[in-house]
Amino acid sequence: MINVAVNGYGVIGRRIADVVLLQPDMKLAGITKVRPDYKANSAFRKGYKIYGTDEKSRKTLSDAGIAVKGVIKDLVSEADVVVDASPEEAGSQNISLYKQLSKKAVFQGGEEQDIAGLSFVAQCNYERALGRQFVRVVSCNTTGLCRVLHSLDENFGVSKANVVIARRATDPDDSSKGPIDSIVLDPATVPSHHGPDVNSVLPNIPIVTMAFKVPTTHMHLHSLMISTREHTTRDKVIETLERTNRVMLVDGKGGFKSTSNIIDLAREMGRPRNDIYESVIWRDSVSVIDNEVYLFMAIHQEAIVTPENIDAIRALVGETGKSESMDTTNKTLGIRT
Ligand code: NAD
Repeated sequence: MINVAVNGYGVIGRRIADVVLLQPDMKLAGITKVRPDYKANSAFRKGYKIYGTDEKSRKTLSDAGIAVKGVIKDLVSEADVVVDASPEEAGSQNISLYKQLSKKAVFQGGEEQDIAGLSFVAQCNYERALGRQFVRVVSCNTTGLCRVLHSLDENFGVSKANVVIARRATDPDDSSKGPIDSIVLDPATVPSHHGPDVNSVLPNIPIVTMAFKVPTTHMHLHSLMISTREHTTRDKVIETLERTNRVMLVDGKGGFKSTSNIIDLAREMGRPRNDIYESVIWRDSVSVIDNEVYLFMAIHQEAIVTPENIDAIRALVGETGKSESMDTTNKTLGIRT
């Protein structure tokens, strides 16, 4: 059993901790918390072992009646792999502890690209992560784009991808940033960081991205315009997307008019926290005009990197192949294969 520590129990860390427990080959060493909020109480009620991120947190949690096992160093010491789900760029502080204790670690997309020496999306480059000490699971938007572009590139050759991203303003649990009564250029310059991030996984795909924030917390929405080297047709593109791992197709005619309907589908499916792990593409939007593929894709920012983190853990341990890992992860999360 791979003993997994989750450092940072926020939007991403909570999901990873729960899903680690669904894996037949993993157990949860524990999680870290800074404050004794409802998330700490929820972890406590689930019976998770809780550690403070430092001595101050340990005392604050303990004073609030939460049984604390120790501090981050104690947790990391007993783990085989650490998933660092701390806030953006905090991982670059935490990495020295993982190095000091010679532990393997999975970082998240908010870290600099070079933190781990490899940016990871399971279906694109699982094998390159086998046995490594560190890997960085890329951001939600990059994960969604890499799945689709990698598949289209393998089937038709992608000569150019242009992507316009309408980003959710913030996550549902964050009232400090919005929603905002405005459309905010994010950034006003071109390209946004997403294209270069895609190239950290798929270096050979020319891509330009532009992004802005819209007043929603549900999902991101991407408009993709992709030139292919080989001639293709709408039917061939749809058939390719239908057999692409972790991609789900939905139909506008079937009632999927907006991102809200996709979150509603997750409720209907009984998914935990209404999570959608797949890149969701509107079948109706898929068009081929003058050898360019057009489509709309939605990304559930809170959930899409969950399966990638689980596969990244197995890749670092180095004892499980790509198909076996992805199949196990998909099965435990209810992702159709
Ligand atoms: P979050 O703010 O929801 O959670 C981070 C948690 O870490 C909080 O509970 C915070 O109290 C705790 N923390 C603070 N300092 C810490 C430290 N030094 N060590 C350990 N924990 C600490 O953040 P999040 O949205 O879960 O993001 C985590 C990472 O995942 C970031 O790199 C982010 O860019 C990336 N990511 C986020 C999303 C998203 O949509 N939220 C999507 C994909 C990737």
